[in-house]
Amino acid sequence: MDMQTSLLDRLFETGLLIDTGIEGLYGRSGSFEEVITRFEALIDEVGGADGAEAIRFPPGMNRAYFEGSGYMKSFPQLAGTVHSFCGNELDHMHLLQCMEAGDDWTKGQEATDIVLTPAACYPLYPTVAKRGALPTEGGLFDLQSYCFRHEPSNDPARMQLFRMREYVRMGTPEQVMAFRNDWMERGKALMARVELPVEIDVANDPFFGRAGRMMKNNQRDQNLKFELLIPITSTAKPTACMSFNYHQDHFGKSWDISTADGEVAHTACVGFGLERIALALFQHHGLDVGEWPARVRATLGY
Ligand code: AMP
Ligand code: ZN
Repeated sequence: MDMQTSLLDRLFETGLLIDTGIEGLYGRSGSFEEVITRFEALIDEVGGADGAEAIRFPPGMNRAYFEGSGYMKSFPQLAGTVHSFCGNELDHMHLLQCMEAGDDWTKGQEATDIVLTPAACYPLYPTVAKRGALPTEGGLFDLQSYCFRHEPSNDPARMQLFRMREYVRMGTPEQVMAFRNDWMERGKALMARVELPVEIDVANDPFFGRAGRMMKNNQRDQNLKFELLIPITSTAKPTACMSFNYHQDHFGKSWDISTADGEVAHTACVGFGLERIALALFQHHGLDVGEWPARVRATLGY
């Protein structure tokens, strides 16, 4: 049995994760959720004094915002759209007959104005753009959202619905680069406090298709994305538990976000994969929180 299946099986057996019959779609136990809550409190402890504006969006976003973000150009394979039945009574009869016969009843579903949020920061940019130019000190935001990515897998660390906690910085290139560098150091220090082994490496997003290959190379060559990696289901291929993204002026241009000086704003975000961090803690310290090292328990306030 490979390491992925064996960890997933153990998580199911202990009830930390609950099988729904779909890969990457799990229920979470109270104990699993508590680890996430406590880890988020630790994030607050580190980042709380920076004065970020907290905003919580639901896990679905305005389809027009999604379209404007360019997500479908880069990651069409990961997106999830919300469709609904919009027909009349006759259509409804057909729908039920179709279900009864075991045929594909979803064909008549129509796209709604909502798309599942692919990353916690996507709904933020158009929201901030509507406010007008940024203040001199730029913008700093604290986000958390369930995110959807269509990437079914038996690796428990690769979920289809998972939570991302993010800080997003907007402003001059200097402001956002300082933010990103700062969080790379903070991320390492934070993981050391919960005794998780980390490495930071340059990374790329899974851009789609042949054109995507160029985007991947470009992202790497320009050091636009770094990841904090922790071994979870493989020691050879550790898992990205945090990412540090510099978008340059991509979102600033897409949404017309400007600095106080009227320049196109640059943006960066730092994302914590909350389920992945919880899984890393369970993998390294054991599935019973009561048995975790005293220092780790104390750091998390257990
Ligand atoms: P990304 O936007 O891909 O950099 O994702 C931000 C963070 O979310 C990553 O560093 C991961 O920790 C987490 N993440 C990304 N994809 C998944 C997934 N399929 N399942 C669980 N966590 C994920
Ligand atoms: Zn982001």
